[in-house]
Amino acid sequence: PDPLRLPPALTDPNQPTDPMRPDAIRALLDTLPRTRLAAVPTRVVELPRLRAALGPETPEILAKLDEETAFGLGGNKVRKLEYELAPPRLKDVTHLVTVGGPQSNHARVTAAAAARLGLGCVLVLNGDPPDPPTGNALLHRLLGAKVRVVGSREERARGMETEIVRVAESGGKALAIPLGASTPLGALGYVRCALEINDQLPPESDRDLQVILASSSGGTLAGMVAGFSLLERTDVHLLAVSSDTPAEELQETAVELAGEALELLEADPGRLLTMKGRLDVTDAEVGAGYGIPTQASREATALLAMSEGLLVDPVYTSKAMAGLIRAVRTGRFLAGDRILFLHTGGHPALFA
Ligand SMILES: *Cc1c(COP(=O)(O)O)cnc(C)c1O
Repeated sequence: PDPLRLPPALTDPNQPTDPMRPDAIRALLDTLPRTRLAAVPTRVVELPRLRAALGPETPEILAKLDEETAFGLGGNKVRKLEYELAPPRLKDVTHLVTVGGPQSNHARVTAAAAARLGLGCVLVLNGDPPDPPTGNALLHRLLGAKVRVVGSREERARGMETEIVRVAESGGKALAIPLGASTPLGALGYVRCALEINDQLPPESDRDLQVILASSSGGTLAGMVAGFSLLERTDVHLLAVSSDTPAEELQETAVELAGEALELLEADPGRLLTMKGRLDVTDAEVGAGYGIPTQASREATALLAMSEGLLVDPVYTSKAMAGLIRAVRTGRFLAGDRILFLHTGGHPALFA
């Protein structure tokens, strides 16, 4: 079966594509306004002790440290918010309103951005913060955000509408940021990241680059798919490890967002076809559900911490690392491949 399920409009195999030069892509990206927040480029480091711990046939393992985007304690939401919070979108805006879980990393970075931009912030979260607040819930409060609790994930959208109206009634104007900033605009932040990876790890003729990342609302994955499609990096394979969403649904969301991100860049969404057969989404690490560690995610956390001094979070990156380890152990990669683990952050959840 074709793992890249494309929207019907994109299934014409005869669409012409040719790779775009990285500087042309960068120029395209620079035509769209953004607010600089992230400390970039983030580092790429080798993980030789993890590699050794996984056995003699293990390919080279590298990590791109988007945990170090720095702003508001960093992680992948920083790059996405740069485009969501572009200056023209902030005209007359007094408040940012967004949604998430009670320990949301996205809510934390949004609250930090609101503070930095001199705006109010309302977070609509499904579930009470722990008492006393810990982890991200503590930071939401410290960053001055107002927290509105709703009873379930399903009630978040309506909760956000209510808060937008409330801001308007008090004479303000709210900018609503969807879950995880996983919008076509937000995904552009990860098109930039794909360009960084292209600079840091240029194609090598005789081996593939196996990129592994945590995925939930799909914006990060969408940006990577769009970016590597533009670059036509036919050596790049993407393995997205879901932290909650069923694989098929996540893949559809990400591919759709990727197509829309390309449209924002006035690039042909048909370019996504260049990723055909090289995008895979797995939900094998979800276990009992969102934020609930599995035996594999606990083992991955401990192994990475003790072999490399590198910390992953219990909700997202530990499950992605579990997916990486499983993929190595089941022989998914060739010994000559390079593996790149995209570390998307989430450290505050270690203290939740
Ligand atoms: C939000 C988040 C993800 C998932 O990113 P999406 O773009 O929502 O798929 C992965 N890792 C961490 C640490 C996150 O906070």
